Amino acid sequence: MKIVVQKFGGTSVSTKERRERVVSKVIGAIKEGYSPIVVVSAMGRKGEPYATDTLLSLVDCNFKDSNKQAQDLLMCCGEFISSVVMSNELFNNGVNAVPLTGGQAGIITDDVFSDAKHKEVNSKELIRLVENGKVPVVTGFQGITESGYFTTLGRGGSDTSAAILGAAVNAERIEIYTDVDGIMTADPRIVKEASLIDVISYTEVFQLADQGAKVVHPRAVDIAMKHNIPLLIKNTMSECKGTLININGDINHPKIITGITYLNDRIQVKISANSNIGNPKYKDILGLLATNKISLDLINIFPDQQVFTIGADKKEDLKNILDAIQIKYTLKEECSQIAVVGTRMTGIPGVIANIIQALNDNNIEVLQTADSNMTIWCLVNTKDVHEALNALHKVFELA
Ligand code: ADP
Ligand code: MG
Repeated sequence: MKIVVQKFGGTSVSTKERRERVVSKVIGAIKEGYSPIVVVSAMGRKGEPYATDTLLSLVDCNFKDSNKQAQDLLMCCGEFISSVVMSNELFNNGVNAVPLTGGQAGIITDDVFSDAKHKEVNSKELIRLVENGKVPVVTGFQGITESGYFTTLGRGGSDTSAAILGAAVNAERIEIYTDVDGIMTADPRIVKEASLIDVISYTEVFQLADQGAKVVHPRAVDIAMKHNIPLLIKNTMSECKGTLININGDINHPKIITGITYLNDRIQVKISANSNIGNPKYKDILGLLATNKISLDLINIFPDQQVFTIGADKKEDLKNILDAIQIKYTLKEECSQIAVVGTRMTGIPGVIANIIQALNDNNIEVLQTADSNMTIWCLVNTKDVHEALNALHKVFELA
């Protein structure tokens, strides 16, 4: 039995016309001799009646914040509807579809509501259905705790569901269908010249996804990589061959940069030694922030100052912690962190110089940089981020 997991995102299942395209992808896989397991997201995006954000707006913030378990139950509803509607569509086209919740598909999670992690998958029932010629249509983004509570897996969690199930049933590949042709060299909504990447390594996609390219969830990439299952990113609405993600990526790729992405809502924090003379806590700041689960990026330590970035959602927490130990600091808000990614840049001199030059030529202020073996980050003002992405895309000839 050759199993393929096919995950369809919110826009892919949002209208009848699109669901008909989904049906053709599922039937296409069956005709090729595969047994498909379908995973669906809730129908549509914010504002549409059954989208998760719309459902969330039905209850009060206070209630949601203090009843995470209730919030998760509500957030599961969009996928319930989607899996039944999609099963109906498949049934009308002669496919023996069976809608299943994440729990019924066997996904057992911890009880961290709204950001649960899977602990195990009891795939017996799922496999039994597939062996009997059925096509399970599993609600993405959710699982169930050992004591039977519904949980959700965090934003983009349907990708994770597909990867978890693919790994559990030892799928031959996992296909993620979305509203773009595959992974592009940059977000095509911002960089019009962005081009399709044919083949890319798990590590590069993980880096792109982790740094803001929301086309696929980093956790899904990580799971597929650990089980060495090829991931394919494809467009529900086209016949484009999409992007293949595997271990080696494209080793013969002629360009040193694979793609560019960005994260908004970053804050740059600067803490100078001079302003904190005599405060013994100055040396312990990074440890203290880590203990308080504030994750830091772009950490640069100099003899006279410490500089790093945090997510804007952590601003109040950071202020409370630093104020409590009387540390003086400055914050620069509305920053964006650009990540230039490519495994082939290792050992090639001048990449950072090219980036800085391109940004300078466009009068874009560079607030900070950092690099690792496959990524160069630079922090810019959010007002400049679109221009910066387009300038970098051009200088590295990614079109
Ligand atoms: P789905 O609902 O199918 O899961 P998402 O909205 O999560 O879809 O992901 C698809 C979107 O990801 C695209 O519409 C695109 O704007 C965005 N995106 C961001 N970066 C990239 C990139 N490098 N390549 C392709 N798409 C990207
Ligand atoms: Mg998504």
